Amino acid sequence: MTEQLRSLSQSSLQDYTDCTRRFELRYIQHLAYPAVESEPALENEKHQQEGEYFHRLVQQHLIGIPAEQVGKLANTDNLQRWWENYVNAKDLTGLTHRALRGDQSGLYAEATLSAPLGKFRLVAKYDLIAIDKDRAVIFDWKTYRKRPKNEFLHIRWQTRAYRALLVQAGGHLNGGKPFTPEQIEMVYWFTDFPTEPARFVYKADQYKRDWDALIKIADEIASASDFPKTDDVSKCSYCPYRSYCDRGIRAGDAADAELETATEELFDINFEQIGEIAF
Ligand code: SF4
Repeated sequence: MTEQLRSLSQSSLQDYTDCTRRFELRYIQHLAYPAVESEPALENEKHQQEGEYFHRLVQQHLIGIPAEQVGKLANTDNLQRWWENYVNAKDLTGLTHRALRGDQSGLYAEATLSAPLGKFRLVAKYDLIAIDKDRAVIFDWKTYRKRPKNEFLHIRWQTRAYRALLVQAGGHLNGGKPFTPEQIEMVYWFTDFPTEPARFVYKADQYKRDWDALIKIADEIASASDFPKTDDVSKCSYCPYRSYCDRGIRAGDAADAELETATEELFDINFEQIGEIAF
């Protein structure tokens, strides 16, 4: 059933972990969303679009367009606040100063990495990989309305897969030498909680555990023939496929939904541009 599936991402792995049925509907059957993920629908959609736009503004800034120029494009209340928080964030000072100086060396915004994972490829699009001397920091911009707990983020596939994949496939960003796990850190920076970033360092034993777990779940997906609904009905309140599963009509609260259902678009990835180390 998974023969057509070529790649796995942190979103698809998270969906598979949260509910195998959702994984099947989204990534195997490619069903369009039949239900609103969260209420109020319009406001949520606007917030999502602003989030995507914010990512674009930061990318423009990091490739060298001056902050004043990019800041003029922040044309909604949310975008203005997020942009102000971004340019003034102490935790990002090193980065923003580098961009300001026109020193983009070692800054890889919107970088995509990929490596074989069982019969699939693991693919990840990073908001930013910042290399400074012998350290690599993965930045991920989050426009969440609630600051999630570090414990929640720590076990998400995004945190595990992004760090592990940078070890596996990021050698070309390190002069041809693979990064060791200890050289890598992941930082979630929250646009509405600019002084409370979540930082996750990495260690060799964590990397081994993560990569083993990734291989295990990829093998499980490759041989899966049925995709049962989750027993945890709380996952259904935010799920766009509720109507397929007879799991309620009313959508959940938007602020909770964005933590549970965030997905990334990987369909536009050009595989020619993906860096990896063959192994
Ligand atoms: S509604 Fe519930 S059971 Fe159905 S796909 Fe979504 S999370 Fe899974």
